[in-house]
Amino acid sequence: MDFKYIHIYRSDRDAGLCIDKVKQDVAELFGRCEVDVREPFLMYWDDGEGAIDETRIFDLKQPFEKQPGRPEPASDSMPLYDGFMLQRTLAQLISDKESHADHVHLVFTHLMTCTFAEEDWRYHGRAVICGTPSIVSVPGIVEAPAKPREFYHLQALGSQDLPTLKKQFAGRFVDYDDGRMTKAAVGYAIQALFYFVTDGEPFCDDRDCRLFNSHWQEDLIRTQVEKPRYCRMHGRLASKFKIKSE
Ligand SMILES: [Zn+2]
Repeated sequence: MDFKYIHIYRSDRDAGLCIDKVKQDVAELFGRCEVDVREPFLMYWDDGEGAIDETRIFDLKQPFEKQPGRPEPASDSMPLYDGFMLQRTLAQLISDKESHADHVHLVFTHLMTCTFAEEDWRYHGRAVICGTPSIVSVPGIVEAPAKPREFYHLQALGSQDLPTLKKQFAGRFVDYDDGRMTKAAVGYAIQALFYFVTDGEPFCDDRDCRLFNSHWQEDLIRTQVEKPRYCRMHGRLASKFKIKSE
């Protein structure tokens, strides 16, 4: 690990996410680093050109280079962004001084990030995009890990509206303005930071480790909210960073 500074950018819309608690947990885990909380990334590093708009996707079944232009009339559904293109665009806004490996930038955002998978040739929602900067998508925390199968089954039947359905499954997924949002966000922050610690391999096969890559909301809740803990190997690694060096 060679970074010394962790810069956390708050999201424009917090949706129940307490960024100060994220900072506290990150600072506790990475005791040797200086951690600060900043205003939203696009306010801190001005995107005057609106370049992030170029990273939007409109067709989930086409890779980024084959994306169609913005449809007319514009759809009012949640805009989606290609996570890696967005990351590349954001990286260009960071000053040279802070583009150094000493600095980790952890961006919380209200933008919904997706990445294209060649296995099934379509985009999937992603809660975290590791790298520089690391991006944690707040809507991604809600939308990317899958809800219980029955939820989608009932949704497809269309017999209940979404709020009723969400009420029925309450507690089995993290929702907007949910008390568990912050703990889930801390988990993704830790994964993003371990990306640098583990040379790009932050995820763990142990289903009970905080570094488990949760594809299901129920895994996310178990590993980050109910029993946040590390497996033996990652616990040993985590304990190394706690101590402040003299
Ligand atoms: Zn582990």
